[in-house]
Amino acid sequence: AKSDGRNSFRFFSPTMQAQSSRALQLTNALRRALEREQFTLHYQPQFDLATGVVCGAEALLRWQHPELGAISPAEFIPVAEDSGQIVAIGDWVLRNALAQLARWRAQGLTQLTLAVNLSAVQFRHPPLAELIERLLAEHQLPADRLELELTENVAVADARAAAQIMDRMHGQGVRLAVDDFGTGYSSLSQLKRFQIFRLKIDQSFVRDLDHDGNDRAIVSAIVRMAQALGMRTTAEGVETAEQLAYLREQGCDEAQGYHFARPMPAQDFERFVRQRAAA
Ligand code: C2E
Ligand code: CA
Ligand code: CA
Ligand code: CA
Repeated sequence: AKSDGRNSFRFFSPTMQAQSSRALQLTNALRRALEREQFTLHYQPQFDLATGVVCGAEALLRWQHPELGAISPAEFIPVAEDSGQIVAIGDWVLRNALAQLARWRAQGLTQLTLAVNLSAVQFRHPPLAELIERLLAEHQLPADRLELELTENVAVADARAAAQIMDRMHGQGVRLAVDDFGTGYSSLSQLKRFQIFRLKIDQSFVRDLDHDGNDRAIVSAIVRMAQALGMRTTAEGVETAEQLAYLREQGCDEAQGYHFARPMPAQDFERFVRQRAAA
């Protein structure tokens, strides 16, 4: 737009202004969100498709603002990434998620793994590895109960820094999962540098499985590739029995989605797991 010459005064369109003032509003509101305890974590069960057992949970951040209401992480995470606030928020998520996992283990739910989402921005902040190691030690958690979910952008954005942290995490026994697999810009050769435990098949490939032959082919190919490379697969966004049947038939290892359960508060999750186990 800069080279637009006489038109450049129109660069800041009303839509862009509305977008950026919303972003500004959220940035300001985020500044107080931590200290005012407006964040919570919800947990979505993950199912082992061979046994039907709940094998883990993905921690998903929730933000309830007194005036703005509930704001989706899809909206505020990018804002927090742009402003750098994601580092403090991400620390909060790790602290709370690992404390929760420790409580579940103390209550006998020892089979669970816990998946935590990380932003590429957090990888440019070296204390990440130290924080995770300290929290695992503090709560006496086996490292292989923690799974870090990263999108492919992490591998692209800052490959060297990310690879260093991931190597260190992998050395500790922490598992690494590639989130939204198939939607990013990484190449397989970039991903090969990381010690990846799991590919999470993006929900955009799962949504239309029942009638889209291309999606069926893609899902089938991802599962086969993962198997050949010794990685596990989790399908996201499973909403129907038909999708589940196809995924199981293809040999997908695990799944999560509304067909099983929505993300829920920690106490509900605990009850959910116990009810499933008793059934
Ligand atoms: P994601 O990591 O890909 O998480 C999956 C999203 O799909 C979640 O949305 C989840 O609630 C939703 N979902 C689960 N099952 C289904 C289903 O069957 N159908 C449909 N349509 N959706 C389903 P949510 O909780 O709104 O989170 C959106 C995104 O925000 C996440 O996508 C993740 O990228 C980001 N996010 C959430 N929590 C955190 C966090 O603690 N840290 C970071 N860095 N990002 C987070
Ligand atoms: Ca995720
Ligand atoms: Ca995902
Ligand atoms: Ca996503």
